This record gives sequence, structure tokens and C-alpha cells, in this order.
Amino acid sequence: MEHCIVCGMEVKVSNEAESMNYENKIFYFCTTLCKVLFEQEPKKYIDAGKETKSEEE
Ligand SMILES: [Zn+2]
Repeated sequence: MEHCIVCGMEVKVSNEAESMNYENKIFYFCTTLCKVLFEQEPKKYIDAGKETKSEEE
């Protein structure tokens, strides 16, 4: 089970699941809407999912 990076909902991984390859990582989305939101501001959601510790490469 993956989590939608935009809203945090659980996403069942299947051929029909909304997903996207971004910077060599696969991200899953619960709906097409979440996918669209991610496409508009991918960094916003990726940064939000990271722990805000000291900067690492
Ligand atoms: Zn979502």
C-alpha cells in the first residue's frame, strides 16, 4: 500500500492506480486531481513529505 503524496490517503497499487515518475521516483495518487496538483507543484509536496532536518544532499 502506498500513500498519495498530495493528501496522504492510502492508494492501492495496481495498473489502474494513478502514478507518476518524477526524478526517478514513483509517486502514487488517490485521484487524478491529486496527480494534477502534484504536477503543478511537485516540489511543494515532496518537501512537505520530508522531515525538516539539517540539509542533506
Ligand atoms: Zn490524494
